[in-house]
Amino acid sequence: MKKEELKAFRKMLVELRQKLASNVAHMENHALRNSGEAAGELSDLPLEHMADRGSENFLKDLMIGILQNSEAEICDIDIALSNIDAGTYGTCELCSSKITKSRLKALPFARLCMKCKQAEENEAAQL
Ligand SMILES: [Zn+2]
Repeated sequence: MKKEELKAFRKMLVELRQKLASNVAHMENHALRNSGEAAGELSDLPLEHMADRGSENFLKDLMIGILQNSEAEICDIDIALSNIDAGTYGTCELCSSKITKSRLKALPFARLCMKCKQAEENEAAQL
């Protein structure tokens, strides 16, 4: 991969990480207070109308799910960033083949190529 391309992916990853980290911090701050209030303030998440009719427990579970997802993504982003430094960015963890650029553009922290990802999902579906 070209230097400029790596630079662009690094920028995408850093921006995504900042956004996720601030979402996580925001949610954690407000979860400590009142989950209904927190949901109302998360304007970019489709929680607002659910807060009106949904139960507080449902909302809490939803927030915990989003938090766990975000934290897992931040983890993957950190791995991707260190892979850029190591020169192994864009390589599938399982089969070592190159991950296509279109896949990386859609998911810059992808750790598996499309083929391995699909195989993994098929396996999960069979469980
Ligand atoms: Zn693979």
